Amino acid sequence: MVLSRLAKDTRHCPPWHHKISPTPEEWAMHKKNLMPLTLETFEKLGIKQKEPMKKHTSFKVGGPADLFARPHSIETLEKLLKMAKFHDLPLTVMGSGTNLLVRDRGIRGLVISMDKLKYPIIITPLQQEIYRIQVSAGTILAGLYRETMAQGIGGLGFAAGIPGSVGGAVMMNAGTGEGTMADVVASIDIMDTQKGVITLPRSDLRFSHRCLSFNENVPRQQRPILVGATLIMARQDKKEIKAQWQTLLEKRKKCQPVQGAGAGCFFKNPPRGKSAGELIDRAGLKGFKVGNAMVSSKHANFILNMGQATAEDIIKLKHLIEKKVNTQFGIRLENEVKIEGE
Ligand SMILES: Cc1cc2nc3c(=O)[nH]c(=O)nc-3n(C[C@H](O)[C@H](O)[C@H](O)COP(=O)(O)OP(=O)(O)OC[C@H]3O[C@@H](n4cnc5c(N)ncnc54)[C@H](O)[C@@H]3O)c2cc1C
Repeated sequence: MVLSRLAKDTRHCPPWHHKISPTPEEWAMHKKNLMPLTLETFEKLGIKQKEPMKKHTSFKVGGPADLFARPHSIETLEKLLKMAKFHDLPLTVMGSGTNLLVRDRGIRGLVISMDKLKYPIIITPLQQEIYRIQVSAGTILAGLYRETMAQGIGGLGFAAGIPGSVGGAVMMNAGTGEGTMADVVASIDIMDTQKGVITLPRSDLRFSHRCLSFNENVPRQQRPILVGATLIMARQDKKEIKAQWQTLLEKRKKCQPVQGAGAGCFFKNPPRGKSAGELIDRAGLKGFKVGNAMVSSKHANFILNMGQATAEDIIKLKHLIEKKVNTQFGIRLENEVKIEGE
């Protein structure tokens, strides 16, 4: 795994600014073409108003987004970003919402879900049974696995059972004990409101535990919007690829509440080989409930919405877990799940 050697576990995941402010020059140039915030514009760009985020997150909680869009093309995405920029709207970007907790009062400004940005996957043979895979952000990770597996190309076996989009997986450096996205990503394509789509080579990317950050030379003024990625993968026997996937899925079913409404592991594993789930379990919190949110009795690092939980229930439970683990073991847990909104 050539690529994995480049992955540095810095454990530092920087927060991103939520607004992309135009420069005075950009303003002057763009003013005459500015799309007004009218129903007509919303219709053209497929924008919904007051869209309940509980419909778009695997936790099934979350208040309304002021404005919500799911662009199907780069062109629409570009228009949406320009609209956000020139109307000074706060911007939140998401994938399939499987690692996201949205607070009960929802999200102000524009939420762009990238889960509909799906262009056909392009597979190009390079040399010695090595392949370049170009995939867009909205492609479902399991779908990418299926398509590459069908052609006898392996490398995503670690991802069995990880829901969500390729964009979300790259931004989270999603993975398991068997590997992470850092093992296969060669470059990413991000949308720059001035320059359009630009490619960032692997040397600009810093993957760490459930995090992607960027080298200093990448401008930090905006939250990166990932539109696609190029992966490098190798030929592998189809049976072997399938068997690895199946084994991991079965392992998951045994120890994780795969059917429950949650977002996977809530906390990152602390450094030095400790498991957050084990610490929460040892703190006696398996099955513990706040309102309708519960620590899974199967895997203590999973918080589940048992039906009508609010984001507040989940956040109260999260604080309680953090406090108990800190008091008992002197360890501060860090969120793996991203929390958005107010
Ligand atoms: C049952 C279950 C099991 C899970 N198991 C695992 C596991 O084993 N390993 C693991 O790592 N994760 C796991 N997860 C968590 C989650 O599935 C992964 O983190 C997934 O990769 C998130 O993808 P998403 O498209 O849903 O991203 P989202 O949840 O929508 O977003 C996650 C983050 O990425 C950002 N983001 C998403 N797309 C883009 C984009 N195109 N451009 C810029 N930023 C973007 C968002 O702003 C957000 O900060 C699990 C979740 C569930 C529900």
